[in-house]
Amino acid sequence: MKAMKAVRLIEIGKPLEMQEIPIPALGEQDVLVRIKAAGICHSDVHYRAGASSVGPLPQTIGHEVAGVVEEVGTGVRRVQVGDRVCLHYLLTCGECRFCRSGHEQFCPQCKMIGKHTDGGYAEYITVPARNAVHLPDDVSFEHGAIMMCSSSTSFHALRKARLQAGETVAIFGAGGLGMSAIQLARTMGALAVYAVDINADKLALAERSGAIPIHAGQADPVTEIRRLTAGQGVDVALEVIGLKQTMEQAVRSLAVLGRAVMVGIADRPFEIDSYRDLLGREAEVIGCSDHTLWELEVLTEYARQGRLDLSHVVARTVPLDAVAINEALDALERFGGEVRTVIQP
Ligand SMILES: [Zn+2]
Ligand SMILES: [Zn+2]
Repeated sequence: MKAMKAVRLIEIGKPLEMQEIPIPALGEQDVLVRIKAAGICHSDVHYRAGASSVGPLPQTIGHEVAGVVEEVGTGVRRVQVGDRVCLHYLLTCGECRFCRSGHEQFCPQCKMIGKHTDGGYAEYITVPARNAVHLPDDVSFEHGAIMMCSSSTSFHALRKARLQAGETVAIFGAGGLGMSAIQLARTMGALAVYAVDINADKLALAERSGAIPIHAGQADPVTEIRRLTAGQGVDVALEVIGLKQTMEQAVRSLAVLGRAVMVGIADRPFEIDSYRDLLGREAEVIGCSDHTLWELEVLTEYARQGRLDLSHVVARTVPLDAVAINEALDALERFGGEVRTVIQP
């Protein structure tokens, strides 16, 4: 059995360690992928710290993966050796009612790569061929990898919002998720996209991507949104931060028949004035969880067409090295998700 390098979580709360482990075995319906890029995500910080469940240990973490197909199982037809691919991180049964209806994130057997099974901080990974999404030649492995997480969640949120061409959108939070959401909302035909944040640099970047910036530290964003929309409010509001206050602002900024989608994970409940905010406007509050395989195929094509441009995102690359990867996780832990690092094995 040939061996490979993998940087793995051995014990919760301890730095990741490099291990030599066997290259994973290939099933009939699987593909073996030589990893070219693996994104270091904020969730990985939570796994290392024990703030989110992960295991069994030891585990190779990393769920944002792109690479080249090295070998295919005997039953695989759609994917070929040499194909550039990025990977859907949800491993599902493919047969239950959620899988068959395109809501596979609710599959009772759903597992996530880099959380429940070995992930991308390694030289190789084996996944079911179904999880491989073709990555167009014009899109880098680095962008392909990070698209598999934050951009895809933004896209799922806008689809949950049932955004229609000609509608207006407000995005609360102009970080990684928010920046993808701005571009995707415009691609989907939004008439105006308002970006709400308290960080002037992020707002400047949002404005360059075509959003109308609203500095929530300088004015009440709900009042600003009402002023900018002639009192009407927005048709769609996305909350991607995970704060009680911004969740409430998102709901309060809705127009008649507006939809607010909650994407950020908050540890406190938020309050709604049911008459003023919901009944009186027939407004909706919608939850959003992960994304689907089909959405990833659309996203990679949007990226090829330049409608989703992540050139502002990948700030740094590191080799497959435990020290460098732990340092990148430390930086994320200390400074938050502003600087993205991608591993290039
Ligand atoms: Zn991620
Ligand atoms: Zn299923």
